[in-house]
Amino acid sequence: MALIVQKFGGSSVADADRLRNVASIIAETYRAGNDVVVVVSAQGDTTDDLIAKAKELNESPSRREMDVLLSAGEQMSCALLAITIEKMGLPVCSLLGWQAGFQTTSAYGIARIKNVKADRIRIELDKKNIVVVAGFQGICKYDDITTLGRGGSDTSAVAIAAAMHADRCQIYTDVEGVYTADPRKIKGAVKLSEITYDEMLELATLGAQVLNNRSVEMAKKYGVVLEVLSSMKRVPGTIVKEVVSVEKMLVRGVTKDVNVARISVLGVPDVPGIAFKIFSKIAAKNINVDIILQSVGRDGTKDIAFTVSRDHAQTAMELLGDSFELLRGKTVLCDTDVAKISIVGAGMETHPGTAAKMFEALYEADINIQMIATSEIKISVLIDAKDADRAVDSVHRAFVPEDLVL
Ligand code: ADP
Ligand code: ASP
Ligand code: MG
Repeated sequence: MALIVQKFGGSSVADADRLRNVASIIAETYRAGNDVVVVVSAQGDTTDDLIAKAKELNESPSRREMDVLLSAGEQMSCALLAITIEKMGLPVCSLLGWQAGFQTTSAYGIARIKNVKADRIRIELDKKNIVVVAGFQGICKYDDITTLGRGGSDTSAVAIAAAMHADRCQIYTDVEGVYTADPRKIKGAVKLSEITYDEMLELATLGAQVLNNRSVEMAKKYGVVLEVLSSMKRVPGTIVKEVVSVEKMLVRGVTKDVNVARISVLGVPDVPGIAFKIFSKIAAKNINVDIILQSVGRDGTKDIAFTVSRDHAQTAMELLGDSFELLRGKTVLCDTDVAKISIVGAGMETHPGTAAKMFEALYEADINIQMIATSEIKISVLIDAKDADRAVDSVHRAFVPEDLVL
């Protein structure tokens, strides 16, 4: 007998038929003699719909109230799934985040899990119940409901698997696994049978929505092996783990991130401390800066450009506005018509020429590069948003052979 955590995303539980399908997967696992803990997301577009409802009434609702609202999506789906399982004649118990022991920070909307006190889940498993937990939510020290940020149910599942030392953690979704690019957009995207935590973390952070990046981070930290697979088609998925045995491909994935904005600060003094002062101001508000470019100084001045996520662009602009004495009278520009295209692969570390090959693919598609950033296992470029899909396609074709089967 094993303890298996199964997470089902929004499209997997979107309607009655899908709920019945998911219930049958769970039932099969349970009837095979396993303890089963299920984590669910809100159905279909529920979270987006709830956000739209709130915005109709208040353009900037407080994050606390938004968490009360958004957690309702997962509250509904976990009850509906439990009700579907009940109908199959199996013992089941649904638990909301707080009941399942999810203790989080009080950063509403982007709370981090501090601890999963899984006692109640254990009690229910001992009673031979299938346990269905509402993903994406927890409770903070003020006894308020919190949510974990978009895509947070993946992290809920990994956190339970880590806390309970589960034997398996399966992330069921609407594609068959992790691909070399978004299989819904890129013809010829290839399913990876295995991928390392580090590669998956980069892919997730750089735009491959299939797994939430915090969930991968947590899986790596606690050594939780993840299996990403389809809830609709019973075929092997992708295993995410520390070391992979498959032959190394140079590039394991190509991603697109349109949630990005470029901020340019023009004509700042070319003296020590300028970058420090600008970026510490941004960091104090917990805004993550990604690609940074500083021009060569000329006539005592220089330009600094950097990218932030689009959600943070306005706050960043306000921070660098006239109230910031250092930049008073300087030109600060924000461009949201940009996209970040990245390639990821542990193999590229020891393979010179990878960047040149990527740039060649962009050149062939007649796409201009605005900024470049590299690390050992990734190369990112910033380009015009309108070119993003063509760029992914061209770069993917340059690195992933059409007849590749993994
Ligand atoms: P869920 O609702 O199950 O959490 P998501 O919509 O969050 O599912 O993530 C699955 C989606 O991620 C897929 O439908 C696919 O379009 C997208 N995706 C983007 N990049 C990739 C990739 N490299 N591999 C697989 N899916 C990807
Ligand atoms: N329902 C939440 C969202 O749409 C959490 C999740 O699906 O993982 O982001
Ligand atoms: Mg998701």
